[in-house]
Amino acid sequence: MICLGIEGTAHSIGVGIIQDVNKTCTVRSNLIKTYKPEKGGIHPREAANHHANYIADLIYESIKKAHVDFSDIDLVSFSQGPGLGPCLRTAATAARALALSLERPIMGVNHCVAHLEIGRGTIHRCKDPVLLYVSGANTQVIAFAEGKYRVFGETLDIGIGNCLDKFGRFMDMEFPSGPKIEKLAEKGKKYLELPYSIKGMDIAFSGLLTAAEHYVEKKERLEDICYSIQETTFAALTEVTERAIAHTEKNEVLLGGGVASNKRLRDMVKTMAEERGASFFVPKKDVCIDNGAMIAWLGYLMYDSGSRMDIEDTSIDQRFRTDMVDVTWRE
Ligand code: AMP
Ligand code: MG
Repeated sequence: MICLGIEGTAHSIGVGIIQDVNKTCTVRSNLIKTYKPEKGGIHPREAANHHANYIADLIYESIKKAHVDFSDIDLVSFSQGPGLGPCLRTAATAARALALSLERPIMGVNHCVAHLEIGRGTIHRCKDPVLLYVSGANTQVIAFAEGKYRVFGETLDIGIGNCLDKFGRFMDMEFPSGPKIEKLAEKGKKYLELPYSIKGMDIAFSGLLTAAEHYVEKKERLEDICYSIQETTFAALTEVTERAIAHTEKNEVLLGGGVASNKRLRDMVKTMAEERGASFFVPKKDVCIDNGAMIAWLGYLMYDSGSRMDIEDTSIDQRFRTDMVDVTWRE
């Protein structure tokens, strides 16, 4: 089966085409355009306008790049949520228009679950992981348990990427600031105490953000502040992931989301996994960030296992929770 997926939950609009080959995922094309605000954070309407400007060209380009024809597409899927309303609506509208004009079925999918499934679909040894999903808006530890994808821990306030970007904005860095903070942190020498808030299995970052901003006012070295932010937040994320592994007795850890590009985070989680005898996986960069191929792949899994949607079922859901998904494709 060949499926075209449209991703549009936040700052990126992506179109990916996948083909299932004996139930494993072959990515045939995966194109992404990212909206960069001139100043400040993401403005939902501006991001949606950006997506609307690019979506048609992206669909044509992805068809060309995949060496397929529109008539070869068997299924259209799209990110139904969670995300920013105007962005989700733009992607959903494009998906509906495409599915109706091609007279093909449509499938709305959960963005967080797609991050996990693309790991299982593209990494051969990754079968039943605990996912540490670290992106701009989302921070969740997700695993399959008793018939559902369940959230074992998550942020109580802002996502980890958002935390880094907000600190970056305070320092007048370009958006997104994660990569810049990573560079600065490499030159950090001194650890500055920051609040480490884990509540049960959940995490909070906003107190840490305020404390980090105070260190700027106290004229501490920026490299040391960035280093301390990374050490503290990443340690907390690793701790919650470790607890989820212990609780579920799984032996695989998967990273997903934009912050998974960070080498320090990878090293910390990898060390923890190795110490527990668990395998550690990170998908290739183009399927690790927000992308259309992961949406296409999850759409395929759902369709192949018997799920169906009518156009009336394709309304977007900004607060679409990971554990609301009816998992029909796993035992
Ligand atoms: P996503 O929402 O999954 O597209 O991821 C975007 C987020 O990833 C933004 O908040 C970026 O600041 C963050 N990010 C990207 N690269 C890095 C990096 N190398 N280190 C830390 N954060 C990063
Ligand atoms: Mg994401």
